[in-house]
Amino acid sequence: MKVLVIGGGAREHVICETILKNESVKLYSVMHNRNPGILRMAEDFKIEKETNVEKVLEYAVEKGIDLAVIGPEAPLQVGLTDVLEKADITVCAPTRDAARIETNKEWMRELMRRYRIPGLPKYETFTDISKVKSFIESLDGEVAVKPIGLTGGKGVKVAGDHFSGVDGAVRYAEEIIKNKIGGEAKVLIEEKCIGEEFTLQAFSDGRTIFPMPAVQDHKRLLPDDKGPNTGGMGSYSCENGLLPFMERCDYEEGALILQRIVEALSHEECPFVGPIYGQFMLTADGVKVIEINARFGDPEAMNVLPLLQNDFVDICYSMVEGKLNRKKVEFLEKATVCKYVVPEGYGVRSMENEPISVDESAIKNIGALLYYASVNMKNEKIYTTSSRSLAVVGIGNNLSEAEMLCEEGLKHIQGEHIFIRHDIGTEKLIEKRILHMKKIRG
Ligand code: AMP
Repeated sequence: MKVLVIGGGAREHVICETILKNESVKLYSVMHNRNPGILRMAEDFKIEKETNVEKVLEYAVEKGIDLAVIGPEAPLQVGLTDVLEKADITVCAPTRDAARIETNKEWMRELMRRYRIPGLPKYETFTDISKVKSFIESLDGEVAVKPIGLTGGKGVKVAGDHFSGVDGAVRYAEEIIKNKIGGEAKVLIEEKCIGEEFTLQAFSDGRTIFPMPAVQDHKRLLPDDKGPNTGGMGSYSCENGLLPFMERCDYEEGALILQRIVEALSHEECPFVGPIYGQFMLTADGVKVIEINARFGDPEAMNVLPLLQNDFVDICYSMVEGKLNRKKVEFLEKATVCKYVVPEGYGVRSMENEPISVDESAIKNIGALLYYASVNMKNEKIYTTSSRSLAVVGIGNNLSEAEMLCEEGLKHIQGEHIFIRHDIGTEKLIEKRILHMKKIRG
């Protein structure tokens, strides 16, 4: 069977690895960079922008692809799923219309409002800056200011973290409208939710979801959650599928919200097929929706896919065929810690084209996992680009074991100009999260 994976990041590296556990698969790849991990696994590959739908289609037809799996959000936004499906290629990813849950934050919020889905923070959208101030004032300046469209996870700014006061919020809202950040001269202003964030990913067949273990990502660049937002610096998950600061009912609340969103999309005649991702905030008032994505998270895919006990290709077909309810999906009951290696200056101004040396066999020997992201390979050497470089994952019986293994793995990566958030998954940071949640819940 020929499976095409679109995308060349660490998320796609782990997707490819998981797909290849099915021995009947021949793997094909379209990616914009030369991801060394994917290059090695693929029967054949094409270096191409993932959003160039005509070229991706041409390649898929030429290779006689049976199943396509799309990793990143940008090709979903330009309707790659729709185009491939029209050519009779099976695609395990949402259509352009279904992917609006991620590509159009306003549409997503309205969907939740219309279907009375729980967890919706107070929000309004504006095109006229003169009307923004009174709404921000009504929330005492405690707001998140968001572009409507995609910004690679870097367009959202939050009061207290990235600006302060009503004026700071208004200034950023003005910048979004004026510069059409996220593609539109429109801004979403939302109540700031206070609590601990968690990610819940689920498989969806358009009607039913199957939720995966919960994960906590770390968006901020610097230790102790300081600095600008990034695509994600690392993440962890626990052996019981929950997180140290959450109860089972919080997990179930998140899963219910995802189920209700999938039902709403089906009702809107754009059923959601593929992995769906909920970013939630656990607050004093329960679970709030921060954002919904139409794909696996990056890094979060690296926490869950290595634990999957089923054949992933089979699950992909169950999603496409609407038969997920007949599957017993299982995840290994282990903890995971994932830490990204990024170029120095990432999030501000990355040091590009810097060499990184990776001792792959040493990492493998100690049992840690390595996933390449936005690096390029030239003459058998690995070089940084402006984005995240690679990730190391440790798996263990508990968080401390997983964290130690991840750190052991990271010792085998050298570079003069690299940066890692070593505090991710450490006892100190986890304790802080638990205390924070206790304080919020009284
Ligand atoms: P997003 O790109 O929507 O995931 O937002 C990036 C980050 O901004 C999230 O991971 C949160 O940490 C933060 N954020 C977004 N919306 C809110 C909100 N309403 N309240 C508090 N923090 C938020």
